[in-house]
Amino acid sequence: MKIIVLKFGGTSIGSIRRIKKVARIVKSYTKKYKVIILSSAMSGTTNKLIDMSKKISANFADNEYDTLVSAGEQISCSLLAGQLIENGIQARSLMAWQIPIITEGQHKHSRIKYIYKKRILKFLNTGGVPVIAGFQGINKDLKITTIGRGGTDASAIMFAKFFKADRCVIYTDVEGIFTTDPNKLKKAKKIKNISYEEMLEMASLGSKVMQPHSIQDARLNRINIEVKSSFLNKSGTLITKKKNIINNKIITGISSTENDSKITLLGVKDRPGIAASIFKPLSKNSINVDMVVQNISSNGKETDLTFTIKSYDLIKTKKIIKNNKFINFKKMIFDTNVSKVSIIGVGMVTTPGVTFRMFQALAKQKINIQVISTSEIKISVLIKKNKVTKAIKTLHKEFNLNK
Ligand code: ASP
Ligand code: MG
Repeated sequence: MKIIVLKFGGTSIGSIRRIKKVARIVKSYTKKYKVIILSSAMSGTTNKLIDMSKKISANFADNEYDTLVSAGEQISCSLLAGQLIENGIQARSLMAWQIPIITEGQHKHSRIKYIYKKRILKFLNTGGVPVIAGFQGINKDLKITTIGRGGTDASAIMFAKFFKADRCVIYTDVEGIFTTDPNKLKKAKKIKNISYEEMLEMASLGSKVMQPHSIQDARLNRINIEVKSSFLNKSGTLITKKKNIINNKIITGISSTENDSKITLLGVKDRPGIAASIFKPLSKNSINVDMVVQNISSNGKETDLTFTIKSYDLIKTKKIIKNNKFINFKKMIFDTNVSKVSIIGVGMVTTPGVTFRMFQALAKQKINIQVISTSEIKISVLIKKNKVTKAIKTLHKEFNLNK
């Protein structure tokens, strides 16, 4: 029998009723697979624990923080294991130290380095179902660690990797990955298959279903991920390698951002290395510059430069630019009233004219494009914030995603 990893998120096990439902889901796999379960804490629990630590100190000791916030998983795992036993399944809850799951790196942001397999394999071979605490590990000093908020996704992917699982199923409260945000467009459709690369673009661009770095881990280890709802009896979305995808659509999805700001420097004294002088101190201060355009200077002396950053970095960015002695410019202007809309799809690699179709469709709706950036499988445009819904609707139709 093949091994399958099932991950349950906080809302999926958010109440005793939900836990009973999850136990039935687990049962549906046990005939066909050896099942490994990774569970997060019941929804709200982790936040409550963090709030308590804050009431003690804003600088609550990092190692105690990890011990505290990882406690939520102990509750959910034992409840779920107890329910499974009640239903006649040989289950057992396991905390990271009991396995052990070895992590490296700092407290609060550790990474799973190694998982000891022997005892779990033995348990699986006797028909056992281990219910394992996500989000936690121990380090070489035997201290309890955590791997970042939402870390159970990453735990599940690592288990799938170490145990060479057939698949990793992420049970959550959404049906799967959609062609665009269903809250913004009713016509959004569930995507059946999506490549890791597309999913990474969708995730980092604002479709927050899974942690981007766990998708990256899955990509590196070629692990098939199925994202589906534990609330509905419906198929979800398969995240897999490009080769496995047969798709007749050029574009797979459309995403948009909400918190971008645009900065323009007018009359920048042009010389070799000027862009580097502007962006070096920003990157040193961990400010992520996203889209960039530099105009060709008409007189060869001065140029205008526009770029986007996250709005929460705006004040810091303005200060850094004003204090930058290595650059000269006439004026700095900024605009927080912008949003980035992107179309994503591996299909565009082999299809010419996608950029043109996107621009033309937007132009027909009188939507002005301010900045453009592209990668192999993505085209992004910066537009006015109040045009986002219209832009998504237009592009969704243009690239046949309504069907
Ligand atoms: N319970 C942890 C959190 O809320 C881990 C998880 O949900 O995956 O961040
Ligand atoms: Mg969670």
